[in-house]
Amino acid sequence: MKLSEHTVKKLYETHTLSDEEFLALLATDAFDSLLFSYADRVRRQIYGDRVFIRGLIEFSNYCKNNCYYCGIRSCNRSAVRYRLSKEEILSCCAEGYAIGMRTFVLQSGEDAYFTDEILCDIISSIHTLYPDCAVTLSVGEKSKESYLAYYNAGATRYLLRHEAASDTLYRKLHPDNLSLHTRKQCLFDLKQIGYQVGAGFMVGAPNQTLEDIVADLRFLQKLDPDMIGIGPFIRHAQTPFADRENGSLSLTVRLLAILRLMFPHVLLPATTALSTIAPNGRELGLKAGANVVMPNLSPVSVRKLYDLYENKNCTGEESAQCSSDLNQYIRSAGYRPVTDIGNVIRS
Ligand code: SAH
Repeated sequence: MKLSEHTVKKLYETHTLSDEEFLALLATDAFDSLLFSYADRVRRQIYGDRVFIRGLIEFSNYCKNNCYYCGIRSCNRSAVRYRLSKEEILSCCAEGYAIGMRTFVLQSGEDAYFTDEILCDIISSIHTLYPDCAVTLSVGEKSKESYLAYYNAGATRYLLRHEAASDTLYRKLHPDNLSLHTRKQCLFDLKQIGYQVGAGFMVGAPNQTLEDIVADLRFLQKLDPDMIGIGPFIRHAQTPFADRENGSLSLTVRLLAILRLMFPHVLLPATTALSTIAPNGRELGLKAGANVVMPNLSPVSVRKLYDLYENKNCTGEESAQCSSDLNQYIRSAGYRPVTDIGNVIRS
């Protein structure tokens, strides 16, 4: 397959390519600067120079699942487990609110302690105290009834990465009790309830091929999400993938640009994993079309314990306590940090 600048223009204009074209584009860095400039143009057309700041509260690292890539997997006996109380979660929100944050992202492992009743109480307390804020959940696979209960309690956004749209790859990343079918069904349930939904995947996950990534792009086209979270896979010593290569910075950034061109309206974070593999990862992500950052609002005492992968970046401009550093970082990349609620803009 011979690629030309024309192919990138076609992606910009039509928001899609053939499988062969996607594969060829993923495999080369020859068109990166063109891709990034189109992606930046598109983000500016829709979102201007705004970068939305979300406060991330990692409220429990207990998890019943045993995903092969993840440091907080249930079989990792050396993980030090914690869960935050409702009061601790609310004080994270208070801290975030005081520095202007208007979106709180509640993320955790799949922790059975947080029954629907407990979680709904936390969601509705946040919603009542901060009616001008959005509550985003990222707590894994639940029944449609549970998702509906959280929605009725006041959560309006949900992040659930599909992780891998190819069944073969999904099987290589997860134990047998987890199924891609269920994960996808959760995403469609969430959408149907009315959530703004985020899906996504790791770049460079062990055994992932470029064909697998094309399958991810096709699944995203089917789902048509409001948010897409991607970041490089990063190894963790207490997992079966301890010796695997980390995902590539350049492929992740190229994919961010491709996603911006495929889904012009999408909320696309420059993730913590991206800033963990390269000091300027977040800046490169922003310049390739990312328009969201999610600094850590969890109490400093537990931050290191939400240990999904090695050396997770959780200080400096990753940390809500250093919001002026983050703001400065975003401005020097050429964008404007904003703390408003930042809903998706659908034309
Ligand atoms: N329990 C929630 C939250 C999972 S943690 C859920 O199921 O959605 C959030 C994301 O971190 C995961 O979706 C996964 O894509 C990412 N992640 C986990 N381990 C990782 C690793 N080793 N490297 C990079 N990203 C990882």
